[in-house]
Amino acid sequence: MSAAAPEVAGGGSSATPASAMAERSVWTTQGPTSWPSPPPLMSYTALRDIETCPLRWALRHGEYAGVWTGKGYPSAPAGATIAGHVVHVALERIVRAVGAVRHELPNAHAAGNADPMVLVVDALRSLGGISAVLNIVVRETIGEREMNPRLWPRATEIAAELQRQVPALRPRVQQFLNRVDLSRLRPGRDPGGAHVSGRANSEVRANSEVRPLAPGVYAEVPLVDAGLGWYGKADLLRVGGGTGDADDAILDFKTGQPKPDHAFQLRIYALLWARDARRNPAGRRARKLTVLYGDAAVEIPAPHSDRDLDGVAQELGERTEHARAAVEHHPPLARPSCEACEWCDVRHMCPAYWEPSTRAAITSSADRLRHRIDAGVQILQQQGTWSWVARVREVGALSDEISEGARVLLRARPHDEHFGALIRAGAQMRVVGAQFVTASEESGGLPVLSLTRSTEAFVIRDRCSGE
Ligand code: SF4
Repeated sequence: MSAAAPEVAGGGSSATPASAMAERSVWTTQGPTSWPSPPPLMSYTALRDIETCPLRWALRHGEYAGVWTGKGYPSAPAGATIAGHVVHVALERIVRAVGAVRHELPNAHAAGNADPMVLVVDALRSLGGISAVLNIVVRETIGEREMNPRLWPRATEIAAELQRQVPALRPRVQQFLNRVDLSRLRPGRDPGGAHVSGRANSEVRANSEVRPLAPGVYAEVPLVDAGLGWYGKADLLRVGGGTGDADDAILDFKTGQPKPDHAFQLRIYALLWARDARRNPAGRRARKLTVLYGDAAVEIPAPHSDRDLDGVAQELGERTEHARAAVEHHPPLARPSCEACEWCDVRHMCPAYWEPSTRAAITSSADRLRHRIDAGVQILQQQGTWSWVARVREVGALSDEISEGARVLLRARPHDEHFGALIRAGAQMRVVGAQFVTASEESGGLPVLSLTRSTEAFVIRDRCSGE
């Protein structure tokens, strides 16, 4: 399905006028002020995102001048995603501390014979324990996201919720630590890669500074195949000590559910390691690939021969070419599906998502977002301090329970100043992730769209008027 341009005031590649910039807010359906170019280096995440829905990738990575100073579109603060991020960062921090503890042992013999459990315990003692690390990472995570305007209205609540989750996140970190052998961990990250950010340009710069990796275990290793135009980052890379390559291994931590694509991701890392001419000039091969899900370690068959590696490279080359082509024209194609749209945090800007034909095409009501409503509404009048009567003008592709033309009661939580300031009689808005409550006497016979902590609302601005 092809997408019309999102409702962009001042959209396209031209600069946004200063007056328009001052008026731009994240709480509108305005699209990017300029669309992104294809990524200079491809990564597994970028490839997967573009293949899933090119428009979603472009909306997330476009420029939004006047909205905020960050890159791309501010991401929605999904609690589960932030919790997974916190676990991952805490784990990285502990693993680095284990490397530092091992490095401080008096000699190579002591380091070689160190009990991994003792190393982990010493590292955790130096950090104040797993809970202390998690608490620090929660604070830092919220602090880093303070500039994100989509987080502002709920930052305090999200921070409090994450702090409450720390006791439940602690065993998840422990599970990972129980399953990895860190006895040969090198301090810090890979030489030359220590300050590498996830940005492709940084990877290119850093790649010119790196040295070959000596035998040992390394955390957060950037892997680059400049010829293929790809980079990745292995959570743990073990470089074998012998002349053979039987010991080389790559391990990736996953805080979410297992997905079939994770195997492909590890095979990509195996290819990048084999072809990273700076870190691995001998062309060693990773023979063991593991995805660690916390409670389970899944072994992935590694590409063994040149032919296997060439096969991965060929598949990557073809998929990369298609992905680049998909985001080269603007706006890119929308590819609506239950899987893609359910977690799409830019769906308020996506014309395809609001087309009745898309809703009809996503046929299975079992796949719809049960009791979670995305609706475009016209606010008719304010009913109470925290409630408004509205008419539904459009329904999101995955929403059920409600139809166009229905009168509904929008109800915010008491003292929700954010919605209180945003919703005005006469405004047209897209409300995303509202909770559906059936009509009752108490609601004046109207079905209720309840605005919860995770609901967002965006004022519809059209291309011509900017209203
Ligand atoms: S709502 Fe669906 S079709 Fe639209 S950008 Fe998001 S994932 Fe793509």
